[in-house]
Amino acid sequence: MTDNAATAFIGLGSNQGDPLANCLRALHKLDSDEVRVVCCSSFYRTQAVGYENQPHFINAVARVKTQLLPNELLGRMQQVEQSLGKNTPFKWGPRSIDLDLLLYDDEIINYADLQVPHPLMHERRFVLIPLAEIAPDLEHPLLRENIAHLLEETLDQKPCVRLRTDNPWLVAK
Ligand code: ADP
Ligand code: MG
Repeated sequence: MTDNAATAFIGLGSNQGDPLANCLRALHKLDSDEVRVVCCSSFYRTQAVGYENQPHFINAVARVKTQLLPNELLGRMQQVEQSLGKNTPFKWGPRSIDLDLLLYDDEIINYADLQVPHPLMHERRFVLIPLAEIAPDLEHPLLRENIAHLLEETLDQKPCVRLRTDNPWLVAK
């Protein structure tokens, strides 16, 4: 990895099959010469948002270093989703894996198929809680507030329970 590599944060979510195993598989598949997984938060058990009559989700956030451009990174994430059998029957419905590009350095991107920062990240405790675990002081490039502060301010009250499950990228605390 060269010195000019970007730092990105990727949100993981799954509520089909074995959700924890799906998230771990996704991390293993992402981790490569071009996308180095630096660390990952704890896993959290969270209630589905939007369409609520579906199994609970497992969520986490990973920090990666990458030489890929944002759209290339998204492409890689979508390959990993496909290889894990992502098949979303409808928006916000059940999925075996969902990988969202939350932040890419402090870039602000507004393509039709890629918005960064992820437009809903500050409204979702299941993103902010794991992100605050690994990057509390990081500033949101549009809202100009750090993640810990956004978490304090968010109106979302949905349960988000930290699991004790280990993962190879968990930062020791
Ligand atoms: P959800 O919005 O529930 O995550 P999907 O994962 O099915 O639903 O949505 C994928 C679509 O979202 C893709 O077509 C992708 O182009 C688009 N998209 C826009 N911005 C992002 C982002 N920051 N991260 C991931 N996908 C994004
Ligand atoms: Mg997605």
